[in-house]
Amino acid sequence: MAITIQAAAVTGVRQAEILKLETPDLRAGEALVRVRAAALCTLEQRAFSGKMKMPLPFLGGHEVAGDIAALGPGTNEKLWQVGERVAVRLLYSCGECYYCRTGHTNMCVHSQHKPVREGMLPGPGGLCDFIVVQTKDLYPIPESLSYEEASLTEPLACCVHSVERADIQFGEDVAVIGGGIMGMNHVMLAKRRGARVILSETDEARRKLGLLLGADIAIDPSSEDPVKAVRELTDGRGADVVFNTTAIGAVVPQAIEMCGRAGRMIQYSSMHPDVPVEVSPHMLHNTEKTLTGSISPTERDFFKANRLLSLGVIRMEKLIAKTYPFGQVQAAFEHACLPGTYRVVVTAE
Ligand SMILES: [Zn+2]
Ligand SMILES: [Zn+2]
Repeated sequence: MAITIQAAAVTGVRQAEILKLETPDLRAGEALVRVRAAALCTLEQRAFSGKMKMPLPFLGGHEVAGDIAALGPGTNEKLWQVGERVAVRLLYSCGECYYCRTGHTNMCVHSQHKPVREGMLPGPGGLCDFIVVQTKDLYPIPESLSYEEASLTEPLACCVHSVERADIQFGEDVAVIGGGIMGMNHVMLAKRRGARVILSETDEARRKLGLLLGADIAIDPSSEDPVKAVRELTDGRGADVVFNTTAIGAVVPQAIEMCGRAGRMIQYSSMHPDVPVEVSPHMLHNTEKTLTGSISPTERDFFKANRLLSLGVIRMEKLIAKTYPFGQVQAAFEHACLPGTYRVVVTAE
């Protein structure tokens, strides 16, 4: 049965409005989820600020947690029940392209072409009071995990993907450049993989938080040369793994240099505008360094992030800057766009 829902859509530059939409009837394998928390990620911020040109109205929200309000006909009731608390995966992968078939669902060539159900708006679509989703995109969460923290499953999953790509070994030296939410996720995850973690971050409060969340050492790249500092800490070798979580072009050559022999440098952040750097092929030959990147999580990464949060292995509460009730979504967007802000989460009223 169709219901009227409220959707907090971007309708203009720095303008968010609550629109009324009619949901389609639930199909088999679908659920209606009451959204309890939706976080505002970079995609939503860029759509709101106009930095990313989107067809408007654009309905963002891909970091969502809530509970099941209704199930479509024929849904497996052994697996899912009305009232169950869930984190929701809203980024799309088709399951049928070359990359999906080979397990790289984060590389799906159709990821930007998520089918839009009738009556709904384009975009990941989580910034609503209710959403229609497939049950395969639901991940159960326990009572002990708040909806706000559970809404951050997707950003944690992005970093699970990145940390898995670095294949960290016990006792390795891991440098994390940048202490934003993604940098902090890398700090927490790398620590749990048995590494010594060195955080490089200019802001003192963030360095303190990094040390609290698991960094062994925090260096200030504005007062000392971070490459030299990491080399000194590692008997001149450089780090085994370097994650650049910043979008600062000038940091990339430093990240490559900071990385030691047989090391792995992961370019985690996207780069706007892109800044190409020179790489010495002789250096690559000589050091066997791996230079690579990381983008988005696979379902497997999402599942692992869900486990880490559900079991309390990783806590996200310190990375939530502020929560706003759904009706104040405009203020929430404005706050989220302030530089240096951790996650802003919109909650059900
Ligand atoms: Zn995100
Ligand atoms: Zn695909």
